[in-house]
Amino acid sequence: MNDSTKKKPIFVTQSILPPLGHYVQQLEKIFQSNHLTNNGQCVLELEQKLSSFLELPFTHLCANGTMGLQLAIRALGLEGKKIFTTPFSYVATLSALLWEGCEPIFVDIDPQTLCLSPKALREAAIQHPDAAGIMPVHVYGNACDVDEINAICKDFNLLCIYDAAHAFGVKYKGKSLFSYGDISVSSFHATKLFHTVEGGGIFCNNEATQEKLALLKSFGHAGDNHFCLGINSKMSELHAAMGLCLLPQIPSLTKQRKKLFKLYNAALSIDSPNSLLRHPVLLEGLEWNYAFYPIIFPHESILLYVKNALEKEDIFPRRYFYPSLTTLPYVKNNPCPVADNISKAVLCLPFYANMKESTLNRIVEIISKSIDAYH
Ligand SMILES: *Cc1c(COP(=O)(O)O)cnc(C)c1O
Repeated sequence: MNDSTKKKPIFVTQSILPPLGHYVQQLEKIFQSNHLTNNGQCVLELEQKLSSFLELPFTHLCANGTMGLQLAIRALGLEGKKIFTTPFSYVATLSALLWEGCEPIFVDIDPQTLCLSPKALREAAIQHPDAAGIMPVHVYGNACDVDEINAICKDFNLLCIYDAAHAFGVKYKGKSLFSYGDISVSSFHATKLFHTVEGGGIFCNNEATQEKLALLKSFGHAGDNHFCLGINSKMSELHAAMGLCLLPQIPSLTKQRKKLFKLYNAALSIDSPNSLLRHPVLLEGLEWNYAFYPIIFPHESILLYVKNALEKEDIFPRRYFYPSLTTLPYVKNNPCPVADNISKAVLCLPFYANMKESTLNRIVEIISKSIDAYH
C-alpha cells in the first residue's frame, strides 16, 4: 500500500472542536479580565446558557462528571450508605460510590433498554431495607424508566442520583432528562456529545441542595465562613470557554448524528425482522440525542470475530460496557445475569457527527463480510 491509499485509524468517537479563531476570541476576553477561575465570567455565562438551552432553572459546572457524582452523593448525605446501582456502565459510576465510602448493591438491567430494571430494583429494595439511595445510568442517552423508579423511591424512601453522562440534550415527555431524580449529573469530557475538554454539570431543583453543591465544590466555605467539608471541583475559565464555543453547534451536530444513525441502520438492515444484530430499545416518549451507535450481537464469539476484522483495518469500535462491573477485582461480586451477558455481546461502532458516509459504508462492508465468513 502506498501512502496515498493508507487509511487513518478510525476511533469510536472524535472530539468536536470549534474553529480555532472562536476559541482565541474567548481567550482574549479571559486574558483581558485576568480572571482565570473561581466562578469567572465564562463559567457564569456557560451556566446560564446551559440552563436556557436545557430549559432548566440552574446548572452547576464542576471539574468533571465523576467528581459531579461524588458531590451529588455528599450533597444528599449519602456518603458511606448502601446504594443500588447498575453493573452496566462506565467504571466511574461505581468508583464515585466507592470513593465516597458507599456500599454499592448491583441491580440487574432490563434486557431491552439496558438501563436498570425497575422490577429488579423493587425486589432489591425489599431485600435491603437499609439502603438509602440509588444511582441509575441513562445508558447511551436512553432513559431509565424514570416514572417507575420515582415511584419505587417514594415507596422505599430512597434518594436518586442519575448518572446522566450520556444524556445531554435528551428530553423525556417534553422535559430535559436532567430534571428527573433528586440530582442528575452529566459529563462534559472531550469524548462526550457536548464538552468543555474536562468538566461536568450537576442539575437539581432543590434550592437547599443547590447551595450545598456550591459550597462543596469550593472548599466548603464562603469568604471566612466555613460551613462543611468541601473539595476543589471548580471549572476553570479556559474550560468553560470551550463550552461557550461548542454549545451553539449542538443542534446541527445532533441532526448530523441522526442522519448518520439512519444511514447505519439502513446499511446494516438492522430494522429487518431477521437481522442478527439489534439495538437497545429506547423508552417510549424519548427525544434521543443519538449519542452512540451500539449493536448487540447474539453472542460474544461473533462479536470478537467482527471486532478483530475491523481492527485489522485500523477501525476501533469499543466494548461499551465491558466487563460487567460485578466482575471488578475490588467489589463484592453479586452476579447480575442480564448485565453480565449483555456486556459480553455489545459493541459501539465508530460514530461522530462529522463521520464521512464513505467511512460508514466501509465499516458496514467489513462487518457484513465478517459475519458471512463467521457462519
Ligand atoms: C464519561 C462517564 C463518566 C465520567 O465522566 P468524567 O467527566 O470523565 O469524569 C461517568 N459515567 C458515565 C456513564 C460516563 O460515560
